[in-house]
Amino acid sequence: MEILKTTSQMQAACGNFRRQGKRIGLIPTMGALHAGHLSLVRAARGSCDVVAVSIFVNPAQFGPDEDFSKYPRSLEQDCALLQADRVDLVFAPSMEEMYPPGTSTFVAVEGVSERLDGASRPGHFRGVTTVVSKLFHIAMPQQAFFGQKDAAQVAVLSKMVRDLNMDVELVICPIVREADGLALSSRNAYLDRDHRRQALVLNRAMARAQECALAGEHSSARLLQEARAIIAYEPEVRIDYLAAVNPETLDDVADVHEGALIAVAAYVGPTRLIDNLLISKCASV
Ligand code: AMP
Repeated sequence: MEILKTTSQMQAACGNFRRQGKRIGLIPTMGALHAGHLSLVRAARGSCDVVAVSIFVNPAQFGPDEDFSKYPRSLEQDCALLQADRVDLVFAPSMEEMYPPGTSTFVAVEGVSERLDGASRPGHFRGVTTVVSKLFHIAMPQQAFFGQKDAAQVAVLSKMVRDLNMDVELVICPIVREADGLALSSRNAYLDRDHRRQALVLNRAMARAQECALAGEHSSARLLQEARAIIAYEPEVRIDYLAAVNPETLDDVADVHEGALIAVAAYVGPTRLIDNLLISKCASV
């Protein structure tokens, strides 16, 4: 496994593989890797010849009052995990390497970037689409792997790829959860024991929404009310957003049917977590 720190090294390595006719799969991450990230590595291994993982805590996607400086960083341990999973390339650039002084070009997907996390975290998706575009230009992968865990990010990146005719296929992988239902996240490291227990309410609320849909409840207002009531059991969980939306446009839907996205962001104590569920089958009226 090669660990590359500069964009020119990464471009050269990926260029070599491409010239040999190899298919490159890219997995953009911010490190502090867990089984969710590793599920993307395995998916890439299944359909690509070369698996490349980028590790970069992207300052452009953090707001001024967010956790950029304290975001967990564990490059050595991450590389050991990736090596064990037979990753070929790790791209771990410095901030100066990704954003040299004077950088003034950004990629913004209007509309969908202002919904859900984009509404709560102004500028977040502009940071995401800018860094992912740069990574696509550097690695020029045939496929790139993302988690359904970040459902709004999936919508924004899919639109970016369509709008800018990018020649890359996005592969979206299911949410990996702990045995008790908590969605894996690098930010779970912030949770103390009691907050971790309280965080389980998010998955329970999603499950309740699914249950109501299966029982024939199509009104998103009533279904979200049920989910909200579950979350209200935990005193230190404060909802940022809880919405039923179209997974592509992220527009609210009044009626929930199969394929609708139920998405939640909530503060559990001081830690902001997200979770979501794609409604899988509804009873017909
Ligand atoms: P991050 O390092 O948080 O930027 O995440 C990098 C990629 O891993 C993103 O595409 C995430 O959606 C994905 N990811 C994070 N957590 C999970 C999870 N629990 N299950 C599946 N994918 C995940």
